[in-house]
Amino acid sequence: MRRVLPFSRPVTRPEFCPNPECPLHDRTLARTGQWFQHYGFYHSQSGGKTRRFYCKYCGRTSSSRTFSLHYWTHRKIDFRDLDDRLNSCAGYRQIGRSLSVSYRVVKNRVLRLARNYMNLLDTSYVGFPLTEDIAFDGFESYMRSQYIPDNFNIAVGCTSQVPYAFTLSLFRRRGSMTDQQRRNRTALDAIWRPPPGDLIASCRVVFRDILSIYLNRPELSPFVLTTDKKPEYRTALKSLPEWRHLRELGLVEHRTVSSRLPRTRKNPLFPVNYLDREIRKNSAAHVRETVRGDREVTMTMSRMVITLGYHTFRKPYRIDNRTENKDVQTHAEVVNLLDNRETQEAFDRLYTKRHLWSHQKLKAGWMEDIWLRKKKNPPVVCFRTGMVPLKGQPGNGWFARHLLE
Ligand SMILES: [Zn+2]
Repeated sequence: MRRVLPFSRPVTRPEFCPNPECPLHDRTLARTGQWFQHYGFYHSQSGGKTRRFYCKYCGRTSSSRTFSLHYWTHRKIDFRDLDDRLNSCAGYRQIGRSLSVSYRVVKNRVLRLARNYMNLLDTSYVGFPLTEDIAFDGFESYMRSQYIPDNFNIAVGCTSQVPYAFTLSLFRRRGSMTDQQRRNRTALDAIWRPPPGDLIASCRVVFRDILSIYLNRPELSPFVLTTDKKPEYRTALKSLPEWRHLRELGLVEHRTVSSRLPRTRKNPLFPVNYLDREIRKNSAAHVRETVRGDREVTMTMSRMVITLGYHTFRKPYRIDNRTENKDVQTHAEVVNLLDNRETQEAFDRLYTKRHLWSHQKLKAGWMEDIWLRKKKNPPVVCFRTGMVPLKGQPGNGWFARHLLE
């Protein structure tokens, strides 16, 4: 198992110019030549003595902190420690209390960590030939309250149990309700309804991203996608031209199994059932009857990125109590996701470097929603008055621009 280090060495060379308009914003180009000059130092209470740089091309200045995951922070939080805590089923406020920081600080660092996991996934998928079949299913949970049930539509590798992509879809509450609960739902209905066809559209994004990795195979060999019998999955697949084309060539197959089959290892949906169990026990947001659930779409998706990223890159594939920990493979190592130099470098820098959307190579659809905060947050509705209070709307507060870059 590869180890990832929590801190990096001081930066003496900027990796790119932070100005997106400048040609030296490109990392590959910035690796060559002496396009910058040293520009003295500045001192701050939180960061100490910090080296500055000057771009000879566009004149933009930057500092060694511009390229650090601790950019624009006043408190240094150990990201490796935070990751371990989040995946040991600790809630945000529990973590905040033990580190003596506020909820806002924890939230901010969670967004940063999620972006780094997405960067690691993006780097891993470049040229990666998806060598296994995929099992796909919705992980059921809720956001903010039981009035907004949601599904994380996750595609999992059948051999490695690596979750390759996921999207979120929100639903209207269904099932048995008391009269009061029904009235509450009507109050919410008047203000907000889930976008029509959200499940089909969300599944389509995942299927498209999975097929694009499948197409990296040097020779297109047979590929099976297993799901339960939900009709939306079939509709989403049929609407994809690339899927229809590959099916006509006899290369891809959609197998459906009943979701009522016993959840054993022999069940073709074992990979997703196994991952469901892991999420329920490792993420505080999805423990049964949790009081630590998420309130915003971006936060719930970011926390899921961290849970799935940790599962892929940090957790051992299977634990054998007789083997020493360092000899155990992670899920990523089972399918050689970390086999090239770029991916190894991205993994080594998971807890230290800052990444930008413009530098992502594949820009998968499912990541774009999370990184650029594209999904709309349902408003909080006061069930007593049926109004939307101006104060306390999650996701409406100030948001740092550098977290959208
Ligand atoms: Zn520049």
